[in-house]
Amino acid sequence: MECAVCHSKMVLKKGEIDLRVEGRLYLVQNVLYEECPRCGEKVFSPEVSQMLYEKVKNKEYTEQTINVAVLDGTYG
Ligand SMILES: [Zn+2]
Repeated sequence: MECAVCHSKMVLKKGEIDLRVEGRLYLVQNVLYEECPRCGEKVFSPEVSQMLYEKVKNKEYTEQTINVAVLDGTYG
């Protein structure tokens, strides 16, 4: 697949990625995705994407509390 942003060839990877669905943040582990080596754009294949949205819809996830570093972007 080609990167939609810079048209480089994307690389298939497996790992952890964050996902927002309807304003809620999800952490997806052990997932296959493609990453652009040039600009860092990450995408799921349509199959993976659909599978993840199905899981969210059917609440097929565990609730865990994690520490997230939050930065305030306010300047000046
Ligand atoms: Zn790119």
